[in-house]
Amino acid sequence: MRKKWTIIIRTPLLRKIRDNLRDLWVAWARSQYDDLFNKRRTLERNEDGKLKNLDGFNQEERKKIEELGGKISLLRDIENDSICICTVCGKEHRDMTYNPVDKSWYCVECYHENQEFYKDTKESFLYP
Ligand SMILES: [Zn+2]
Repeated sequence: MRKKWTIIIRTPLLRKIRDNLRDLWVAWARSQYDDLFNKRRTLERNEDGKLKNLDGFNQEERKKIEELGGKISLLRDIENDSICICTVCGKEHRDMTYNPVDKSWYCVECYHENQEFYKDTKESFLYP
């Protein structure tokens, strides 16, 4: 199990480089989402744009829809596990803390708020 750790970048130029790299990654992920959802939407609708009935899909279309759903789910997992976006607030340009309990990245502010919230409770182990 990885330990809790926080990455703080104080140098403005390095912060800018980090933020730009995160922007690139987020833009790429969003373009992938758009592409996957558009492909799925095309398969799920008739030529007039209305949703098909469940029995309106052939076996090949069902298989493609399942594959697209799997890719969307995988992309979502990758996004949720990445350091690029805070698990709680969704902000990108922040210093981040890794929580080994739920294996997620939080911005320092959200992690601290959660840690304070759970501090005197029996769930305090959630935010070491
Ligand atoms: Zn946050």
